[in-house]
Amino acid sequence: MNLSYWEYKSWFSSVDFTIIGSGMVGLNCAMTLRRNHPKAKILVLEKGTLPQGASTKNAGFACFGSISEILSDLKHHTEEETVKLVQKRFDGIALLRKNLGDHNIDFRRHGGHELFLEKDNRLYKQSLYELDRVNRLLAPVFGSSPFEINENTFGFKNIQEKYITHVFEAQIDTGKMMTSLLRLAQKNDILILNSTEVKNFQDNGNDVIVRTDTTEFKTNHLFIATNGFASKLLDEPVKPARAQVLITKPIENLHIKGTFHLDEGYYYFRNIDNRILFGGGRNLDFQEEETTAFGQTDIIQNHLELVLKESILPSTNFEIDRRWSGIMGIGNQKKPILKQISERVFCGVRLGGMGIAIGSLVGKELAELA
Ligand SMILES: Cc1cc2nc3c(=O)[nH]c(=O)nc-3n(C[C@H](O)[C@H](O)[C@H](O)COP(=O)(O)OP(=O)(O)OC[C@H]3O[C@@H](n4cnc5c(N)ncnc54)[C@H](O)[C@@H]3O)c2cc1C
Repeated sequence: MNLSYWEYKSWFSSVDFTIIGSGMVGLNCAMTLRRNHPKAKILVLEKGTLPQGASTKNAGFACFGSISEILSDLKHHTEEETVKLVQKRFDGIALLRKNLGDHNIDFRRHGGHELFLEKDNRLYKQSLYELDRVNRLLAPVFGSSPFEINENTFGFKNIQEKYITHVFEAQIDTGKMMTSLLRLAQKNDILILNSTEVKNFQDNGNDVIVRTDTTEFKTNHLFIATNGFASKLLDEPVKPARAQVLITKPIENLHIKGTFHLDEGYYYFRNIDNRILFGGGRNLDFQEEETTAFGQTDIIQNHLELVLKESILPSTNFEIDRRWSGIMGIGNQKKPILKQISERVFCGVRLGGMGIAIGSLVGKELAELA
């Protein structure tokens, strides 16, 4: 299709900054560029009619790492590195709240509880044993000890007697966060083109040619924020990881409140609008879930329902309202890939399962690479 003179002039000529991907990272990158370049033409290209990766699909945990996750990190990193990782998540959540405001993301600090399965006695005992050490290590980040032990007050079944709670962990409304971000971007004169997939690009030194499924244009700088889809445009070690979720219909007198991590973080659930949102189970079929294709599988969805029935809501009737999936970007390291690819091309990808915590910061740092 040929663009009209007006279409070309208004959207695709003299573009200063182009961002691929309108997830948390892409939009935060665009907002930082706007703050630093008030007069620039900034264009965001998004393949979906809505953002279509992880940012509108996630569970909305504003988390810093459960106790078993921190202990696992300590096996592969020094204490100093582990503290730095947690500090980044802490700073990232502070930035998210500052940028959008608690009301606009429905930020609620109900605490995050790690539940240990009956079979995971060793991990449970080790986590209890290491609690004081980890608290001492992380207290400087939070201003006081983050972890405490709590009774099984919500009556979950098939788990160890107590939870280990992160008192600073919170939950947000993912939909409100993303609509607020999109509104802010539009208010700041950032052009967002949906249903536009970038096929490839070419850095010529003086500018970058961007080829989409409908057109081709030049931009001064290009930022790639495509997370789980990164390997389609970049030669970087990012693997897609599909994550499946379900949500119940509203449940009368639902007493469960907070965010919950189960089975070393492979499962997670929370309350929202008198419902339980429950996701996970990638470990049931890692190979099948290493895909950029959205979709649900019987093996995972059936298991989610089983765990919900037997362990989470053992004495409550519930119905499933909706099921969906999202695509994460993962790798053999937890750190995101934030780097210059060529003279005028930059990327911020591989956010793993921590995008709420670090997405705002990664977007900001991506913009600052140019
Ligand atoms: C089910 C699920 C639950 C999660 N739960 C949590 C949680 O509770 N807490 C937490 O911190 N994190 C969670 N995460 C992870 C978090 O959502 C991500 O880390 C974060 O959203 C990544 O943001 P992003 O902007 O990097 O990527 P994305 O949101 O995936 O954005 C990338 C965008 O790029 C677009 N795109 C890709 N290729 C192209 C192309 N060629 N042309 C144009 N556009 C393109 C995609 O359509 C997409 O919109 C979860 C993820 C999933 C899937």
